[in-house]
Amino acid sequence: MSDASRNTTEIKDAGSFDALIVGGGGAGIMAALFAARGGARVALVERAERLGGCLLVANGQMSAAGTRLQREQGIADSADLHFEDVMRISRGTADPALVRLAVENAATTFDWLCDQGFTVEPGHPVLGNSHEPYSRPRYYWSRERGHAVLACLEPLLAQQVGRGAISLWCETGIDALRFDAAGRVSGALGRDAQGVRLGWSAPRVVLATGGYSANAALYEKISGVPQHCAMAYPHAQGIGHEIAVQAGGHLRGIENLFTNFGFPLERLDVPSRPVARVVTDPALRAPCEIYVNAAGARFVREDDASVDSREQALLRQPGHRYWIVFDQAMLEQAEPILSGWSREAIAAQFAKGHPSFHKAASLADLARVAGIDAQGLRASIAAYNAGVESGEDALGRRHLPAPIAQAPFYAIRQQGCTISSAAGLAVDIDLQVLREDGSAIEGLHAIGEILGAGQTMGKAACGGMMITPALTFGRLLGERIARERRA
Ligand SMILES: Cc1cc2nc3c(=O)[nH]c(=O)nc-3n(C[C@H](O)[C@H](O)[C@H](O)COP(=O)(O)OP(=O)(O)OC[C@H]3O[C@@H](n4cnc5c(N)ncnc54)[C@H](O)[C@@H]3O)c2cc1C
Repeated sequence: MSDASRNTTEIKDAGSFDALIVGGGGAGIMAALFAARGGARVALVERAERLGGCLLVANGQMSAAGTRLQREQGIADSADLHFEDVMRISRGTADPALVRLAVENAATTFDWLCDQGFTVEPGHPVLGNSHEPYSRPRYYWSRERGHAVLACLEPLLAQQVGRGAISLWCETGIDALRFDAAGRVSGALGRDAQGVRLGWSAPRVVLATGGYSANAALYEKISGVPQHCAMAYPHAQGIGHEIAVQAGGHLRGIENLFTNFGFPLERLDVPSRPVARVVTDPALRAPCEIYVNAAGARFVREDDASVDSREQALLRQPGHRYWIVFDQAMLEQAEPILSGWSREAIAAQFAKGHPSFHKAASLADLARVAGIDAQGLRASIAAYNAGVESGEDALGRRHLPAPIAQAPFYAIRQQGCTISSAAGLAVDIDLQVLREDGSAIEGLHAIGEILGAGQTMGKAACGGMMITPALTFGRLLGERIARERRA
């Protein structure tokens, strides 16, 4: 690309459309698809080389109540029960209006996806156990994860592109909105891979640009904590958030910042990738170890069956960080604590001097090398060992197989982190972006993760409550754009 073309301020007309959809992840593809199938002319602009967004990396776990698959299996379920579960799991922190909109329309989205060839793992739907379980089996995914969802959407999209109903730009980033003389949104400006400045005209602009989790600086600015985990989709840069805020929109929901129960990270200069997954679910592996924070204090009953209780306890710890502490007897006798690793591979990891894996001959040395308060650690282990002896644990833990007593001692540093963006654009139930005074910015909509994970999941992880709402809100808005076009 020449500097001349990169710096040009001349705007090339990219055309006029009924709607401009910014971002080709699950939400944007669904909006474009349903608008085009209903008769609208749509521009779909994607910053990455290819469409898919998070679907290219996500587990693809969805939740929907009242689906055909559930009926076929005799599972009685309803949107009301799904709503109650999300509000229970999130302890009332999710946005009731958006959760209602999502769950009341989820089954139609899911059944439609199955009509397009989506198939689920044998035995699905399930209650789910990696997050707080639902009260009914309504949680589904495919062996091919997010790719399976995308595989259903791509041929349909190609059809609409083929018949000229969708004009598609890839490797093209939108960076500003356009407004008409009355101040109404009238399109957007962007730049393609060659640096050409492009301008689209459309009475509706739909921001479906995903989250900001891959933008460490913005993540820290919004969240007040560093982005520890490098697992986000790389184009989740928060550009759509900035575009909307410049137009008068505002962010909400940062109080719903949430963390998972942690990973040992590859490096301590974050964001970094996890090096392994520790099995902390007591239903899969009863814990022999104790968990301590930087002060060396235990902060949670390690055998608490509720994943949400453990995650909420971690949210209250400095740096959302803890250490799993155990001794030589546990390394030798307990089931391996790292998922998919042999005992020998775990022992070798400690021998390497990895920044998340510490080994020492004494508890004092372990505390020093791991960065835990030595006095606190000593006191916690003494109290825990006394509890093992008496059968009465101070935190009420029931699984007390053995004291932590046999040197050498070990600590795995676990970093709580999140791959989604908690905060997002405030919208109404028509998915119109709102100003702080509650008025809608005419012509500007937002769907998907740009609304913030905290809206549909609250301060918790609710199974499938990101992808399903993203697809559903895309469908609903696309249908509405088509309806209005026909009217
Ligand atoms: C590793 C991982 C696992 C996950 N697993 C699950 C799960 O199992 N279940 C679940 O419910 N959720 C899960 N999620 C979250 C879920 O995948 C996302 O919240 C959801 O898919 C977001 O969809 P979206 O369309 O809103 O955004 P995205 O999928 O992020 O799509 C946004 C698109 O916009 C493009 N874009 C960004 N900026 C611009 C711009 N300025 N101009 C043009 N294009 C732009 C991006 O390149 C991207 O393609 C997971 C997320 C990750 C990262």
